[in-house]
Amino acid sequence: MATGESVGAGRPGGAYAELCGLARRWGTLKAVHDLVSWDQETYMPPGAAASRSEQVAMLSEMLHEQRTGGRVGELIAACESDPDIAGTPDSDVGANVREFRRDFDRATRIPTALVGELAKTASLAAEAWKQARSASDFSSFAPWLEKMMRLSRDKAACLLPCTPAAKEPYDALLDEYEPGMTGAGIDAIFTPLRPRLSGLIAELARSPRKPDTAILGATIPAERQHSFGHTVLGAIGFDLHAGRLDTTTHPFCSGFGPGDTRLTTRYREERFTDALYGTMHEAGHGMYEQGLPKAAHLGQPAADAISLGIHESQSRMWENFVGRSREFWVWALPLARAVFRPALEHADVEGMYRAVNTASPSLIRVEADEATYNLHVMIRFQIERALIAGSLPVRDVPATWNRLYKDYLGVDVPDDRRGCLQDVHWSFGLVGYFPTYTLGNLYAAQFWETINRSLPDLRAQMSRGEFGPLRAWLNTNIHAHGRRDRADELCRRLTGRPLSADPLMRHLEGKLRPIYGV
Ligand code: ZN
Repeated sequence: MATGESVGAGRPGGAYAELCGLARRWGTLKAVHDLVSWDQETYMPPGAAASRSEQVAMLSEMLHEQRTGGRVGELIAACESDPDIAGTPDSDVGANVREFRRDFDRATRIPTALVGELAKTASLAAEAWKQARSASDFSSFAPWLEKMMRLSRDKAACLLPCTPAAKEPYDALLDEYEPGMTGAGIDAIFTPLRPRLSGLIAELARSPRKPDTAILGATIPAERQHSFGHTVLGAIGFDLHAGRLDTTTHPFCSGFGPGDTRLTTRYREERFTDALYGTMHEAGHGMYEQGLPKAAHLGQPAADAISLGIHESQSRMWENFVGRSREFWVWALPLARAVFRPALEHADVEGMYRAVNTASPSLIRVEADEATYNLHVMIRFQIERALIAGSLPVRDVPATWNRLYKDYLGVDVPDDRRGCLQDVHWSFGLVGYFPTYTLGNLYAAQFWETINRSLPDLRAQMSRGEFGPLRAWLNTNIHAHGRRDRADELCRRLTGRPLSADPLMRHLEGKLRPIYGV
């Protein structure tokens, strides 16, 4: 924790100290679980898929048993009746106990057998997804998706009674990633946002002054991109002594524990910005993980991120608000030119800035621009909510997907590989996860306005490659506090208002209209 009393200082032998000791054990076990999962997504040979699914299932069950043991419940109850803790609910210790309770109540609702089955199915389904995706064959993945959705509905049914805000089963799943948020709440944000985004995208599409993106098409070998990625990581402040950058099919970040945060990216030789922005994105997640007080509070809520929306706000901030700024390219272009020689010899800052800030409807979410990205998310939200409600059969997913892409983005989906098989999430049972991406964009924009008021010199600093003040601001105001605040509380505390779509629209319109001359 950042200031004041130290969580974990509980009286020696007291309930709180014992609870934190148990948390350290499951935090350590979780690090092992995450390492094994990371390996599956990076270096594991396909032949290990079946045995790995058993390993992951066993570790998940062990973890679940540790976190739901009777002693954990007794210790939480003892902390709640300790007047020193109960009397200070807003203290670091009080907030930590509140979150221990939330985790315990949710975890104990789910039978260990279901935890194991979910983990095993997810591990196998992810392998089936990889093959289905490369063969562009939805029918081979459909039985796995069917099973994963059935298990997710079972999980939702378990969690529904301890999700106070829930109105539908989907809410119980969403609450896992974005505590307190509901499908109706997401709807209330997405419904008015969609026409604002579509209006801007249409306005830009009509402009005759489109940015020239030819400069991004230079062929640059993966090793050189990797080397440039490392330079950027070091400069923005991702600690490479306590982390790594590897390659994968579907980029992600995994923070195992103190001193070990793994980033992954993928390289496309004819579009170096894919890996660059993928790396900066994951580094935003990675710096959040590195900034959490894990060494002191491993396994405790005090060492966890607030929500996926807040996590995503960090990744999107570094990717888009920093990485796609003119100031970033003032600093980065000479470095990129040196590493990529002779590829960017004729590039200038203004050209790069314009090239990386296009907005046009496309098929692939992870490669989408800042403006159209959120429409990709809205489509997934609509589909997964209907899948959990049972109003959309799995067999109808491809047709629904394709229809929504036409409707939201005006594009025709040529095959399932570039359609409903492009994302890994559902195979892993990550349902309720997608909307947090757009929440992250909204939070990032709102935080960015506040940060620029707090750090008036920020833009000049970025153009000199000085990212330390920004990183320190994020660390002091967000990372160091673990799960002390809920996402909406954090937003009000930092920006003085609840989450709004206005800052994101101001950011997009303020940047894209001048670039497109509209
Ligand atoms: Zn992300």
